[in-house]
Amino acid sequence: MKIHALTTGTVSVKHGFLFPRHGARRQLDLFLPGAFSEPLPIHCWAIEHDGILRLVDTGDTAAARNVPFARMHVRQDQELPAAMAAAGLELDDVSEVVLTHAHGDHIDGLVHVRSRVLANEAELRSVASPMARVMRRMLRQPLPAGFAPEPFALDDGPFGAFERSRALSDDGRIVAVGTPGHTPGHISVICVDDAGNHVMLAGDATDSLEQLHSLRVDAVAPDIEVHVATMKTILAHCTEHRTVYLPSHDPDSLARFTAATPVDVDGADPPDQAAHLLAI
Ligand SMILES: [Zn+2]
Repeated sequence: MKIHALTTGTVSVKHGFLFPRHGARRQLDLFLPGAFSEPLPIHCWAIEHDGILRLVDTGDTAAARNVPFARMHVRQDQELPAAMAAAGLELDDVSEVVLTHAHGDHIDGLVHVRSRVLANEAELRSVASPMARVMRRMLRQPLPAGFAPEPFALDDGPFGAFERSRALSDDGRIVAVGTPGHTPGHISVICVDDAGNHVMLAGDATDSLEQLHSLRVDAVAPDIEVHVATMKTILAHCTEHRTVYLPSHDPDSLARFTAATPVDVDGADPPDQAAHLLAI
């Protein structure tokens, strides 16, 4: 298995997005004046495994509009085709795209894709809701033209600490797991790499590893308790499995990915790598 980190430009987000206040200000601050972060990466991922090339998310495009809490910095020469070429990959070789969730910075790159596209059925239901339609119109964030992923259900039972999962590869080494919170149907993709690491392509399950450790609720999560429960589940998974945690916008994701640095929960030693090789 070979995983490639792709980067399609950067995004700066409001301080209140990364460090939301409690109560009504959590979401209100997104729309009030405030300082913005340094540019954060917009990562998506390519996985070569058993002769199949899959993408997890597709990044953003130069056509992306800013929203009150996020400023996009994406040039045309940073979009998916260029990001793939930089990794030595061809878009035409992609067999399947899996979406973590249906926000623009993860799905806009679909305009470049002709392969089959998969998304969690729960995410597609929430995308179709009247509220979501109103928000997309208000924030001028249309779905990419022809957006029609094939829905899948997380009906393969538990995977590690995650209650709900769906194997994406035949051998079960690439698995979608339910990580609701940021959006109602958000998923992450866990790849069991050749060394036995659980490489978790976490989308926006959290913005950073620091946020995960802090159990800090997202500014946009519709249900606070669901998001906290997901963060606890991810940490529980990290205690059971040597997990390399890679959110899409964490400035440290690339370094952790390159060094295969596992999440260290409460200073405990990460689980033995060799034991996991046997479990594959
Ligand atoms: Zn995002």
